[in-house]
Amino acid sequence: MSTACTHLDHVHLDHLPESVAGCEDCLREGTPWLHLRLCLECGHVGCCDDSPMRHATAHGRATEHPIIRSIEPGEDWSWCFVDQVGLRIGRLAGETRIPRSPLGG
Ligand SMILES: [Zn+2]
Ligand SMILES: [Zn+2]
Ligand SMILES: [Zn+2]
Repeated sequence: MSTACTHLDHVHLDHLPESVAGCEDCLREGTPWLHLRLCLECGHVGCCDDSPMRHATAHGRATEHPIIRSIEPGEDWSWCFVDQVGLRIGRLAGETRIPRSPLGG
């Protein structure tokens, strides 16, 4: 499942943040998020495509950072925007504490 992505050299994080406050862009703009996604190139925290503002995808487009990872509890999958493929990156250590979604997710 992880062989189709050619962007693993864009994964600059080696561990997950201990905790995050929410979607960075939603917190700044005052919009609600549903699920949180972490950019594995720069550590940006954005919201998923089921969130109103879709900041994770917007960040990927704007910066060409290809890979995000879910930081929802119990989820460990990543996604490459360029290859449109799911993958798991086992070398990322740690677990992230996240606040409840303002949308109640
Ligand atoms: Zn890729
Ligand atoms: Zn957001
Ligand atoms: Zn990024």
